[in-house]
Amino acid sequence: MLNPPLFLNLGGSVANCTANLFDFKVCNRYMSKASQSRPSSLARKHTGKAKKYIFAFGSKTDGNAGMRELLGGKGANLAEMASIGLPVPPGFTISTEVCTYYYDHEMRYPPALKKDIVTALKQVETQLGKKFGARQNPLLVSVRSGARDSMPGMMDTILNLGLNDQTVEGLAEASGNPRFAWDCYRRFIQMYGNVVMGIHAKSEEEEDPFHEALEKLKKSLAITSDTELTTEHLKDLVKQYKALIAKLTREAFPQDVMQQLWGALGAVLGSWKNERAIIYRQQYGIPSEWGTAVNVQAMVFGNAGDQSATGVAFTRDPANGEKVFYGEYLMNAQGEDVVAGVRTPHGISDMKNSMPKSYRDLNNVRNKLERHFRDMQDFEFTIENGRLFILQTRNGKRTGLAAVRIAVEMQRERLISQKIALLKIPAESIDSLLVPVFDPKALKSATIIGYGLPAGPGAATGRIAFTAATAEIETRKGNKVVLCRTETSPDDLKGMLHSQGILTSRGGVSSHAALVARQLGKVCVCGAGEINISYEKRTLTAGKVVIREGEYISIDGSTGVIYKGAIESTDSEVKRVLERGFKPTSSLTYGLFQTVMKWADKYRSLKIRTNADTPEMARQAVAFGAEGIGLCRTEHMFFDGDRIDYMRQMILAVDEVQRHAALKKLLPFQRKDFIGLFKVMNGRPVTIRLLDPPLHEFLPHDDVVRRQLAEKLGVPFDFVIDRIKSLHEENPMLGCRGCRVGILYPEITEMQTRAIFEAAAQVVKGKKRIQVNPEIMIPLVGFKEELIDQLRIVHRVAREVMKAKKVRVNYIVGTMIEVPRAAITADEIAKEADFFSFGTNDLTQTTLGLSRDDMGLFYDEYQRKEIYNQNPFASLDQAGVGKLINLAVEKGRTVKPELKLGICGEHAGDPSSIDFCHRAGLNYVSCSPPRVPVARLAAAQAKLRNS
Ligand code: ADP
Ligand code: MG
Ligand code: MG
Repeated sequence: MLNPPLFLNLGGSVANCTANLFDFKVCNRYMSKASQSRPSSLARKHTGKAKKYIFAFGSKTDGNAGMRELLGGKGANLAEMASIGLPVPPGFTISTEVCTYYYDHEMRYPPALKKDIVTALKQVETQLGKKFGARQNPLLVSVRSGARDSMPGMMDTILNLGLNDQTVEGLAEASGNPRFAWDCYRRFIQMYGNVVMGIHAKSEEEEDPFHEALEKLKKSLAITSDTELTTEHLKDLVKQYKALIAKLTREAFPQDVMQQLWGALGAVLGSWKNERAIIYRQQYGIPSEWGTAVNVQAMVFGNAGDQSATGVAFTRDPANGEKVFYGEYLMNAQGEDVVAGVRTPHGISDMKNSMPKSYRDLNNVRNKLERHFRDMQDFEFTIENGRLFILQTRNGKRTGLAAVRIAVEMQRERLISQKIALLKIPAESIDSLLVPVFDPKALKSATIIGYGLPAGPGAATGRIAFTAATAEIETRKGNKVVLCRTETSPDDLKGMLHSQGILTSRGGVSSHAALVARQLGKVCVCGAGEINISYEKRTLTAGKVVIREGEYISIDGSTGVIYKGAIESTDSEVKRVLERGFKPTSSLTYGLFQTVMKWADKYRSLKIRTNADTPEMARQAVAFGAEGIGLCRTEHMFFDGDRIDYMRQMILAVDEVQRHAALKKLLPFQRKDFIGLFKVMNGRPVTIRLLDPPLHEFLPHDDVVRRQLAEKLGVPFDFVIDRIKSLHEENPMLGCRGCRVGILYPEITEMQTRAIFEAAAQVVKGKKRIQVNPEIMIPLVGFKEELIDQLRIVHRVAREVMKAKKVRVNYIVGTMIEVPRAAITADEIAKEADFFSFGTNDLTQTTLGLSRDDMGLFYDEYQRKEIYNQNPFASLDQAGVGKLINLAVEKGRTVKPELKLGICGEHAGDPSSIDFCHRAGLNYVSCSPPRVPVARLAAAQAKLRNS
């Protein structure tokens, strides 16, 4: 047994040096122990065939693009590219199973791994005629993280590994370029120091100590660019860096290249559980069990001279989706320089002049990649002395707008089918065609203070925050902020999440800020060079304009324009056309919206309804394509103006006579509301839920209002107080609410039913002869007897009204399934009900025994520990609540095959929950009006994905 747990700590992210030191010692111990201990073949024999943990790519390639689960996205695509003949430096991928093993076994590695790595390294050495750790012609490698879904910048990567005091001389000789060799060495020590040995900047405002030393040296030499440093300077830096490591960690920078490799491996695996990776996974619902793969790959050098470069390119514009070659590169530089925004890179089209052959090669690769992967690719390349290498490709992250545009245009180019196009649009991205834009009128008087690259479309206004921490604090206070930084780093992620928009003064479209904004759907303007941000003075300066932290700024992520002060926003063109009947211009967004919605409607089988209580809401929803109302909450109708008084009078009534009197006054209001709704819905089904909340919600809380109420009702103040006291409940959400109210006060159910049918009669008999299809819904039923009690009233009143008004109204009566008992006894309930509507907000609360409004105390901790993959109120808990739904569907349909089934909880607007609803066999989902387009698309995707 290997006893000590390895790398207890998470190398990459942890700022605490002592902890890392500890890892390091353990690591050393492991290295020596492992070499003494028995070979691992014993362990292997037991399981028969040895498990394959390592997959090569290069002249022999074991993997392909379909193996993301095992190889991670990066590894799978490196293998794919190698096998279609693209120039990929050889290497190997250590599978995600090693990561899961590592975390399941207290940070130990599978016993066979050591030997396998040595074998895989040998293969790379043979292909290149270089040797890892050799003085002559040494092999250098990169050690790169790579999860199944790319998590850009969230985990760690180490370059130039294999350099030490000996091999650096060898590299200098082999390349004939000592300056280059020492440049690699100082980069490596810095990265190793950061990632493996845990040396970081002390705070957000400071640079890390290596960077500080470099800047100091440059300053003393009066130079601005790294490329001006000579070999001697670089040697000096290496010495300084090593001294820094020794001082800060009390440990020498390791000269043994195998030790370097294991250190890097541990750090990269450790970065899977660093804080920013965890936050990222929460945001995207990535399970922590997936783990990351690790890629070890021969280095190629973009810093080998002036015919060398490194860059990132997109086969189409990731910000707006336009089909143009997009990207940027830096001459004589290495990997991270571009992403970190250290130097401002050149646009890819500059390469036509500076390196015409490489540009042609690159453009060929662009076409080949897009044709092969049939999606917009984001790829990383390096040119070493005029020779092009591809280091990574993945489906490019894109803004919502770009996602829609690229899918639609690729379909038109016949690169993909309609179905594939639909599946390629994240359902949420439809929303970005609907985002507000700055009000054209307000823009006329706005002051432009600068321009940057439009990196995330939309309009954002907020107070300036210069640090992620400030952004978070201000947002928690209820302020809107725009995070303004020279450049962002992965540590800013949380602050970015809290901001309306992000503005940076440095870095291009592939900078971290742009990347994250695209992914989070944040408004972003980046690389605004004329703007000066001073963290020290807490000011943003543009020419003569000085704006302080806390003051307002506005940015337009569609155009890149930056404005002083706050600016009003207004509806997008799509909304103006749909909701207010504006004539569509030749607008790109409107055309895209219509195309995608048309396709979606063609394929989906789920119907889309909406939760709407007012004609305005209903109108918006219908404009967006809603096919009915799935939930009209009648209680919302009781708050307006005088109504609340009658409501209170009704609640405080001592007897039936008084209650009747009050209800009589409420009836006309309610009837009027229904008439409005029925007219807008124009024959589409309208599900009306009878009164649901506990009555105390309608009662006043402070004494002044209570006194006024007493006067209005002509009763003593004490009487009001007593009645309110008598209605007090310890747990109102589990008390007298839902159908219990209607059972206790049948007059309420009666009045509501009367209002519904009188309204229906009036609309049906009106001049326009509008059809009405009410679906009356009894809330919170757990016993069939509850439903039967309320059904009797509804049917009786319906008959009375229809007879009196001499009309027939097509109506049905059903129930909500929102407590577990209802789901479990769904067969009994189905005998009485015409339909079920799953109220998944309450069903989640009652199934999890968890109040949606009381998650504050523990939720952060649950997130940190990744106990909930996602907030169960935002995305349906399919394994738990979902099972109850499945059960109810099955039991219900056994009794009544034609039983109509829908869902009206908030989950109905969430794409993955919609996918569940499709699979569960529901007839419709009912979401809030603005979510209707997303739901239409998600429903189509659910159908396509599951058939
Ligand atoms: P991330 O997942 O954060 O993008 P990568 O593993 O892609 O991290 O590494 C970051 C950068 O390092 C790459 O874009 C590339 O420029 C550089 N890099 C990685 N491996 C190599 C290599 N073998 N040779 C040259 N550069 C490399
Ligand atoms: Mg990368
Ligand atoms: Mg409910």
